[in-house]
Formats: sequence, C-alpha cells, structure tokens
Amino acid sequence: MPERKIKELIIGTNNKGKFREIKNLLPKNIKVYSTSHFNLKSPKENGSNFKENSLIKSKYFSKKTGLVCLADDSGLEIDLINKKPGIFSARWAGRNGDFNKAIKKVFKQLNKKDKLWKKKKIKARFVCALSISYLNKKIVCVEGQVDGYISNEPIGKNGFGYDPIFIPKNKKLTFGQMSTSEKYKIDHRFKAYKKIKKFF
Ligand code: IMP
Repeated sequence: MPERKIKELIIGTNNKGKFREIKNLLPKNIKVYSTSHFNLKSPKENGSNFKENSLIKSKYFSKKTGLVCLADDSGLEIDLINKKPGIFSARWAGRNGDFNKAIKKVFKQLNKKDKLWKKKKIKARFVCALSISYLNKKIVCVEGQVDGYISNEPIGKNGFGYDPIFIPKNKKLTFGQMSTSEKYKIDHRFKAYKKIKKFF
C-alpha cells in the first residue's frame, strides 16, 4: 500500500471504451492522463492470463511516463468453446477492432461446437484484471468477474466490444441494451475496482 493516496495516474489502455469506463470509476479529484497524451502504442501482451497481461501494461506505461499506471486486461470467456476468446478477446476483432467480425467468429465457433446452442443457456463471463504499477514495480493486481449467458443474436447499441451478446445472470437485457450507469454497477471492472478502491 503506498504511503499516500494516489492523486494522479495514467490509464494504461488505448481502447477508448475502456478508458471511459475506467475513468468513470475513479474519484473525480484524481488527475487522469491517457496514453494518447504521450502518443504511446500498446506493449505486446504475451502473458498467459489476464493478470499477467494487465501487469505488462501497467509496468510498461508507468516506465514510459514516470507516472503511476492503472491498467486493465479483460475479456469474455465462453465455457462451450473452452473459455475462448479469453485473453484473445481484443485480437478476435482484428487490427481494426471490428467487433462485428469478433461476434461473428463467436457464433461460428459456437455453431461448430453445437448446432443447437441457441436453444441452450451458454454460460459465459467477463473477467477483468486491474493492476497498479509504479515503474517496474507492482503495487497491486486484482481480478473481478461477472457471470452470464450468450445472447442468440447481438442486441443493443450501448457499450463496446462484446456487450451486445452478453446477458448478465438474473437480467433480461444484454450489456449492449443497458445504460452506462446500469452496466457499471454490476460489471467485472467495477467488481475488480472495489478491491483497489482504497488506493485512491
Ligand atoms: P484487452 O484487455 O485490451 O486485451 O481487450 C479486452 C477486450 O475484451 C476488449 O477489446 C473487448 O473486446 C473485450 N471486453 C473487455 N471488457 C468488456 C466489456 O465490458 N464489454 C465488452 N467487451 C469487453
């Protein structure tokens, strides 16, 4: 635990959707920098799980800027297809971050595994690892998750990424249909954030 509360930091992501969601979780008095402020590309995510990749990012962006860095690594795990896309969630959308393409790939893989998948409850979860690093040193690294199911078709225009095909447990709407304030309260990022709140 740092001696003083963190008052300024860089959010270690080049994903605009994630930047917005992480910034909204933080107290308003914290000075927040983005990677575009420093014109920084993302490092190679060659870790083997969400926590490792999150730490690769927080250490990298902290070293590059000399600021404390808060980074996340997140993704969607679908049980029927062996927890894919998992840490490859962003990569399934290709270089241009095309999530129509990524969602098509999800449906194709589900069809390949079980032609009748649409008649079943396909268990899935979003996972988020959040880490704070200062230079090469990990301050903290935690994980949060939200359980749910895959929708038969993409529904809703809100959010980003796989939001239109994820229905959280005990809800009827996809994340893509929910308002931002509704999603924040129950999602994987918020659950992880609650575990590191004391640093701010
Ligand atoms: P990465 O952490 O930068 O490797 O990217 C994780 C990918 O997982 C994102 O590009 C999204 O496609 C997906 N993802 C993570 N969190 C969410 C979410 O809250 N909603 C929808 N998709 C998400």
